[in-house]
Order: sequence, then structure tokens, then C-alpha cells
Amino acid sequence: MVRADMGFLADDEMHGRGSATRDEHIAALFAASQFQALGLEPGGDNGTFIQKTALPNPLPERVQQHLSHFENTPRKETWNAIAILRGTSEANETVLLTAHLDHLGIGPAANGDNIYNGADDDASGTTAVLALAHILAAGKRPARTIVFALFGSEEIGGFGNRAFLAHPPVPLKSIIANLEFEMIGRPDPAVPEDTLWLTGYKRTNLGPELARHGAHLVADPHPAQHFFRRSDNYALAQQGIIAQTVSSFGLHKDYHQPSDELSKIDFNHMDRAIASMVEPIQWLAGTNWKPAWEPRQQPAPEK
Ligand SMILES: [Zn+2]
Repeated sequence: MVRADMGFLADDEMHGRGSATRDEHIAALFAASQFQALGLEPGGDNGTFIQKTALPNPLPERVQQHLSHFENTPRKETWNAIAILRGTSEANETVLLTAHLDHLGIGPAANGDNIYNGADDDASGTTAVLALAHILAAGKRPARTIVFALFGSEEIGGFGNRAFLAHPPVPLKSIIANLEFEMIGRPDPAVPEDTLWLTGYKRTNLGPELARHGAHLVADPHPAQHFFRRSDNYALAQQGIIAQTVSSFGLHKDYHQPSDELSKIDFNHMDRAIASMVEPIQWLAGTNWKPAWEPRQQPAPEK
């Protein structure tokens, strides 16, 4: 299933899932269709699994500047795919699992290739969330609610994520933890084999506690990159939600290049990475332990 989902999302025919393009929409529909087949509860608009939002018009200057190097196509809306696995005894507490659907799309060619497939960034995270949805939906119903959310338009400024925060499918205050999955398709040589890292590891007690429950999770070995602040998790953290990113990005040279493609994915690593998170997440969704920020580690709210 991991190979099948990766094969679809990172195929050249998906044109690199450009932010707020028809290709991003197709990726969202692909995820929505899986959520529906699993019998999950819809978390999108009007009883669907899709949450659609208009982008600002015009887009911010720096976004227009960035997009001027990429495919010239209308970008008016973005799409999230959202599903809910309703909890039993603690249904008013939520564990949120996220990734982003979009990537850079079609852009400047490198070695004759102009499709930025984004196999690692972030077809791998999207595939992980879909795989976890399959496994968790098939298992015993958890005490806490689990929300699966795949965001559009992360690469141009987190617009899908902001739409989710503006129109959350469950109260934001109910979210006890958000794990974002970003670039887990290749191992990171900076950490031991079969290990993932968590951004902002020392900011909360979530990472250490998940590790205690079997997660092969260590601190982000690249603090100079400020990954904690560089993905969709950050806007949630600014709202006070414990929100951290799970990754094994080893700063490879294919980052944001057309060469971030399927042939570079280490599927054995990816399979083990996803499998290693199942029991820790099942534990988190079944316990009444709540993660907390360490003193003075919660980011300031966005102004
Ligand atoms: Zn990404």
C-alpha cells in the first residue's frame, strides 16, 4: 500500500502536485476516497472529506515572486483532505495526524526534468498518514478521537493549514497533540538506523514519552535548520497546540529539486518508519496522559 500510494502521488502525471493547482486537488480527492473507503467520518465541507478554501487574491508579493519561476496556472483555491476516527470514552480529546499534499509542481528544469515530484517532500508524509488511517481504522476504536488532515498549499505559505485552523473539524482546544509527518522516505545518516527525529524535541515532553512507548524517536539532529518553525506544525504550535514534526530528512541534495522522485525512496526504511509509530500513536490515543510544553518553550502567538 505504501508503494501504491507513493506511486500515485509522485507519478510524473501528477505534475509535482503544485500548490493550489488541479493536481493538488486530485491528490486531495485520492486521499478523500481512501478515507471514505475506510468508513471514517468526513471532516471537510458539507459532509465531505474535502475542505476547500479560496486563496488571498492577489497572493502576497513574496509568493507571487516565488511562483513566477513555476508553472503559470490559476491558483485560486486550495484543498485539504480531512477524516475523523471518533473516540470512545475520551472523544472530546483529539490526536491530530497531518502531512502536506502539495509540492512545487512544474518549474525550472534540471537535467532535462521539470517535474518536482516531491516523493520525499511530502508524498512520503501523506502516505504515512494514509497508512496510519488504514491501520488505526481497522484496529480497536481508540478512547481519544483521531483526526487525519492532509493540507494543501504548504509550500506557498501554509494556506491549507490556516484554513483548517479557521474552520477546524473538532474544537482546536480538544487537540492534545499534533504529529506532522514530513520527509520520512529516506533515512537520515545523522541518526541511528531505523530512527526518526522529532522537531522541537526538548520543547515538550511528547517525544520522550512516545519514545518510552516504543517510538524510535530522537531529537532533531539539525537544530540550525530550524525545522520546528518551517512546517505546518508551527502555526498550530503558535495557537498553543503541542505540534511537532516527525521526519528523517538527512539534508539530501534532492530537496526541492526535480530529482526528489520515487527512485530515491528507501521503501524498507519508510515501511519500518511508519510501522514504528503505530503502537506509540495507539498508546497516545488510548491513554489519558496529556503532553505539555516545557517551561518557556511554547512559541509566541502569531501577530
Ligand atoms: Zn514539506
